Amino acid sequence: MIEKVKAQIEKLQVELIELSKYILENPELGYEETKACRAHIDILKKYGFIVGEEYMGIKTAFRAEVVSDKKGPTIAYLSEYDALPGIGHGCGHNILGATSTGAGIILSKFIEKIGGKVVVIGTPAEETSGAKVEMAKNGAFNDVDIVMVAHPADKHFKSGNSLAMQAIQFDFKGKPAHAAMCPEKGINALDAAINTFNNINSLREHFQIDAKVHGIITDGGKAANIVPDFATAQFYVRAATKTYLEELVEKVKNCARGASLAAGTQLEISHYEASFENLVTNQHLLMKYCEKLKDMGVEKIFEARESYGSLDAGNVSHVCPTIHPYFSISDKPLIAHTKEFAEATNKPLAYEGMKNAIGALVLTAIDVIEDRSFLHAIHEEFIVVEK
Ligand SMILES: [Zn+2]
Ligand SMILES: [Zn+2]
Repeated sequence: MIEKVKAQIEKLQVELIELSKYILENPELGYEETKACRAHIDILKKYGFIVGEEYMGIKTAFRAEVVSDKKGPTIAYLSEYDALPGIGHGCGHNILGATSTGAGIILSKFIEKIGGKVVVIGTPAEETSGAKVEMAKNGAFNDVDIVMVAHPADKHFKSGNSLAMQAIQFDFKGKPAHAAMCPEKGINALDAAINTFNNINSLREHFQIDAKVHGIITDGGKAANIVPDFATAQFYVRAATKTYLEELVEKVKNCARGASLAAGTQLEISHYEASFENLVTNQHLLMKYCEKLKDMGVEKIFEARESYGSLDAGNVSHVCPTIHPYFSISDKPLIAHTKEFAEATNKPLAYEGMKNAIGALVLTAIDVIEDRSFLHAIHEEFIVVEK
């Protein structure tokens, strides 16, 4: 099987490199990825996929499918293609998208015989609000058995964890007054915001080790001689599990409530961005992927990196067994979200890494389709694992 998969990758590689290069040269921000989305749709259609455009009402999303006449599990690959402001494809989503779409096309060539269904979902705006959050919530993965997405990096890393995250906004409403002539008439909303930070900082010592809380004041008054009648603070609150995150968010909210009470302001609490859930890696699926990556000739796969960031793939992993490993695009250390990273995605070593990742993604899917007891083990783990 591996030789057949490798032969298909060789045949397709020129088009995949073109796709990745085109997106690299035309970077588009989240939810504006019209060119990238179109390029993915065009190649998927060319290879016989039935494509639903503007998937779930999102303009730059799509869902492409090929179904076998023979029944079997549904495998989903997720394509990302958004860029960063000023940096372009510093996260390498150009080559990420080409890898997922390439894996989908190649798997589709085998499913007629082995059965099942292959789905490629175009998931915009990973760097900002993350379309996968809404997609997971609205049932995009309800009919999917496994989800795989491989991200570029400087080394091959196993799929690990990411932190669950909530983006909390506090709006404090006070009362204006001349700050020198009649400060006693005013209610200082900025004080409430500042004391929210102080309260959080004194609580910080008692956070669980993985928890992160960081914030800014986005509105702190209009002029120094007016008692600020309005202040806004935004925080990212992160934790290793969804369960602890909920506990921590409540504590952070109490910090704001206490500060607001002390200052005499009115407080409104909201989310200013979508909440991300922690990534839960399916270990059965990951072990298989690593085994296949070695079969493709990759010698060293590093343990998952300690991740203190958050991914929208986390939300997917709460509704469907998921892996989010990293594949090597360079033999030198690379820092994500830099121009150097973007440049590295267009080097021979990057395309070597892409081909290896595609091979592992396809071969893993073939095992999932052909070995029912393996799929069963993946699902069992998904049900029992702590999220
Ligand atoms: Zn990124
Ligand atoms: Zn990324």
